[in-house]
Amino acid sequence: MYKTTIGLEIHAELNTFTKIFCRCLNGGDAEPNANVCPTCLGMPGALPVVSRAAIEKTIMAGLAFGCTINDLAVFERKNYFYPDLPKGYQTTQNDFPICLGGGITLSNGKVIRLNRIHLEEDAGKLLHDEVRGETLIDYNRGGTPLIEIVTEADISSAEEAIEFLEEVRSRLVFSGVSNARMEEGELRFDVNISLSKTKKLGNRIEMKNLNSFKTVARAIEFEIKRQAALLDNDREIVVETRKWNDTKEISTSMRSKEDSADYRYFPDPDQYPIKITRADVAAVKKNLPKLAHELRAYFIKLGLSDYDAEILTREKCLAEFFMDCCADKRITIAPTEIAKWILGDILSRAVNFEILVTPHQLMSVVCLVNSGKITRKNAPALLDAIWSTEKDAAAEAKNLGLLGGVSEDDLVKIIMGIIAANPQAVEDYATKPDKALTFLMGQVMKQTQGKADVVKAREFILQGLG
Ligand code: ZN
Ligand code: MN
Repeated sequence: MYKTTIGLEIHAELNTFTKIFCRCLNGGDAEPNANVCPTCLGMPGALPVVSRAAIEKTIMAGLAFGCTINDLAVFERKNYFYPDLPKGYQTTQNDFPICLGGGITLSNGKVIRLNRIHLEEDAGKLLHDEVRGETLIDYNRGGTPLIEIVTEADISSAEEAIEFLEEVRSRLVFSGVSNARMEEGELRFDVNISLSKTKKLGNRIEMKNLNSFKTVARAIEFEIKRQAALLDNDREIVVETRKWNDTKEISTSMRSKEDSADYRYFPDPDQYPIKITRADVAAVKKNLPKLAHELRAYFIKLGLSDYDAEILTREKCLAEFFMDCCADKRITIAPTEIAKWILGDILSRAVNFEILVTPHQLMSVVCLVNSGKITRKNAPALLDAIWSTEKDAAAEAKNLGLLGGVSEDDLVKIIMGIIAANPQAVEDYATKPDKALTFLMGQVMKQTQGKADVVKAREFILQGLG
């Protein structure tokens, strides 16, 4: 058995309105190279002006991870050449990042410490056109504010890494600093991993730009096996950057790892050092939204089970939907009942937690059911009809003819009448039960104009025949 040591670097795009050093729009689905200006294109002479929102969101992230917020932050130039970075350097923070320390406690009680969170700019995007054999560059992403969360090497397995990353994503989303959509590349991971026979750290390899939790897990598992096989044969593990191939599920050597000295960091002469006062930090702290674990505790206090509270806080949009429903003044209903509607009817319809009705629409349906205007059994049909529309639930219930459901007492009376009026069907029931049941059910639906609850009607018919 070897000792596995893993450290992570997480890049998260901040969801600020504008880019970090210019007023170009950040994000959105604009045409390639539409959201650019001389500053984010790196033209000589263009001067950066740092976005206050980006700094505040970085402080916010720091507070969400329990970091210490520094009094002073300094932007530095990290020099390297790549076509997606026209300036020839990335503006980032090195010696004076905005946040230091902090960490996350895993469910096994282990604390994964953060080294720092710093603010930097994202680069553009290269698009390789395989057919024409061309590479195109889209600079829309260039200058997007990124935070880089750097952990200490406290992680020792793929499972720990994934639990940690899930919590990281949750805190970024709940604190409101990043949308953290991995499929959009808003969250990217670099993994450092080393194996050793002794307590001394082994040579580490790095895999950059992994873009999903699954990829991180696979890449770690593969590296553990690869490095263990080398150590088994007393072979050396070379310090290097390896490229993860997610299709083949293997990593291959990319380049020998550059030293941080190769980047020739130095303070950016175009930028002032940033002073962060305690009053600035307090102002951000006042606006820090409740994080998932805080909402979970609150939901449990409202009477929800641990399990329900856990599911409702998996995504911020879900927790907010639940709270908005609870705040609906039209109806007095226990939060546990509202949770049932959301965990059942809503989640069964929402793909990837995308809820396509408003809290007001759902609560309209709940009002109709609770006031006896429609049956609970008819609620799914109504929800289907208003799903992904702006339709009013009550109007739609009327359109669909769902209003005025038949009460159980009336249904029993109607069924007894039908049984009395159809002796032939009753006789047939002994020999051809299915046919007789279908006939009688047809009569019930005819007399109630289809408003009878099918399950209840069947139950009452069988009782009447019994
Ligand atoms: Zn710009
Ligand atoms: Mn970085």
